[in-house]
Amino acid sequence: MSAKAQVNVLNQWFPKASSPLVIAGPCSAESEKQVLEIATQLAKNPKVAAFRAGVWKPRTRPGSFEGIGEVALNWLNKAKAETGLPIAVEVANAHHVEAALRAGVDIMWIGARTTVNPFFVQEIAEALAGTQQKVLVKNPIHPELGLWLGALERLDKAGLENLAAVHRGFFSTQSSPFRNEAKWELSFELRAEAPHVPILADPSHIAGNRNLIQEVSQTALDLNLDGLMIETHNDPDKALSDAAQQITPQTLFEILNNIELKKEEIQNDQASKLISEIREKIDHLDRAILDKIATRNDLVREIAKVKFNEKITIFQLNRWFQILEDRTQWGAQQNIEQEFIQELFQVIHKHSVGLQTAMNKEK
Ligand code: PEP
Ligand code: MN
Repeated sequence: MSAKAQVNVLNQWFPKASSPLVIAGPCSAESEKQVLEIATQLAKNPKVAAFRAGVWKPRTRPGSFEGIGEVALNWLNKAKAETGLPIAVEVANAHHVEAALRAGVDIMWIGARTTVNPFFVQEIAEALAGTQQKVLVKNPIHPELGLWLGALERLDKAGLENLAAVHRGFFSTQSSPFRNEAKWELSFELRAEAPHVPILADPSHIAGNRNLIQEVSQTALDLNLDGLMIETHNDPDKALSDAAQQITPQTLFEILNNIELKKEEIQNDQASKLISEIREKIDHLDRAILDKIATRNDLVREIAKVKFNEKITIFQLNRWFQILEDRTQWGAQQNIEQEFIQELFQVIHKHSVGLQTAMNKEK
């Protein structure tokens, strides 16, 4: 299924919505006035398809604002009645689902801290069984595709057909200007495994900082994701949760206006020919790289025999440090980023150690 067909699936959710689908609203519902004010502003822009607000907030540590709870669902419903915007909330257990179903919530999303827990996901799926609820599944906190897919599968097995994923980035220990590491490749893997599932990006939780939302949104759409969920607040600095990443409706509209939507297919014949020519050269190079790797593997097998006969360990820390140091230096001379070189040689070296270990076992 092409990306265009995926966008159409989302368009069926809200036939009048423009593409890409945009869901906006505060991290948390804080007061009736705040909910109504934000929803009224957002409804002025036809690019906004639905209104989100967290009512039960999963907080990493106790003591932070944990959401208003069920009573806030009435405020969301009032916002829906006044603006016509469908409403979306996060659900983390069966009790939340039941309350949200009673309130007539249009979209439920499963948060990153819930997707990691198959018990809760199963409980949510069972509470939703028999409904035609629209459900978004955020990626789990850590980059494990199986959990993300697994959550979608549990909902699918419960008979839910209106499913979409949300890419909100992954916890990382590396220092970075972003709150969560994007790791967009996980979305490509999800696409490959479940091509019929549309994927929205959540630039707010990836960025963690309002200055990066434009950039992350553009990247997500350049990568062919199908929509955006963006946290929007009437007074972002005073927000009770995720203040640094929230933006005003006005800023959201500017971001949406600035976004440049790219075409999936090329329409210019000359450029199309050029792309084919370049791709052909890339294909040749990739073959040459594979030839080199095959030759490298032969050498690895040769060295494995020597190590085995001499009874020396397969892995030698000094050699590994030397490999990293030399390759990083060689790469730098060719303007290849250090991070890429290190990731590449980690894969190559891991494979080499694996080959040698397997040979040792055969002996
Ligand atoms: C949220 O959307 O406010 C939220 C809690 O997100 P996540 O589950 O991605 O952290
Ligand atoms: Mn949030």
